[in-house]
Amino acid sequence: MDEAPFAPTNRFPPQLTAVLMSHIQGLAMRYGALKTDLPKLAELLAYSIGEAAPSADELMRFMRLESVQRELESRWDVWLEQSADKAKTWRLVNLAMPADPQRAAARLKARPQQADSCTWCWLAEPGHRGVLQPYRDLNGRAVGGVHLHRACKAAWTRLENMVMRSDEK
Ligand SMILES: [Zn+2]
Repeated sequence: MDEAPFAPTNRFPPQLTAVLMSHIQGLAMRYGALKTDLPKLAELLAYSIGEAAPSADELMRFMRLESVQRELESRWDVWLEQSADKAKTWRLVNLAMPADPQRAAARLKARPQQADSCTWCWLAEPGHRGVLQPYRDLNGRAVGGVHLHRACKAAWTRLENMVMRSDEK
């Protein structure tokens, strides 16, 4: 579907890039997890930025960049990615840890109602079982009922460690 050719680099200056990243992070924190299409994400982002927002086309180009998606995941605790499934939907997920240890512990215990949902972000993945992987403990045993997206697995592991550490205190 990507008929428009685009160079795989970010054309925005560093300052604007940081503004866009922080607004994408803000959306992830506000929504927690979102499954939608790219024009909708660009619309939300433009609304969040306000008058200084680049055009929707430029925002969509920015979010498609792999380098941008990698930086969001490694430095901003945000998973932004287009799915490989037929619908080509996009996922925006907050990977940040809860600041409060009690909320972290509650989050670790909570389970989504639908079995085909990711245990971290709770997005349902009906019919796309390969997208979610069963979680395995340190001994390689699958942990019952815990299925995670690739990116969410790292967040889940951090959450487990965080709760374990605060239990030790
Ligand atoms: Zn997930």
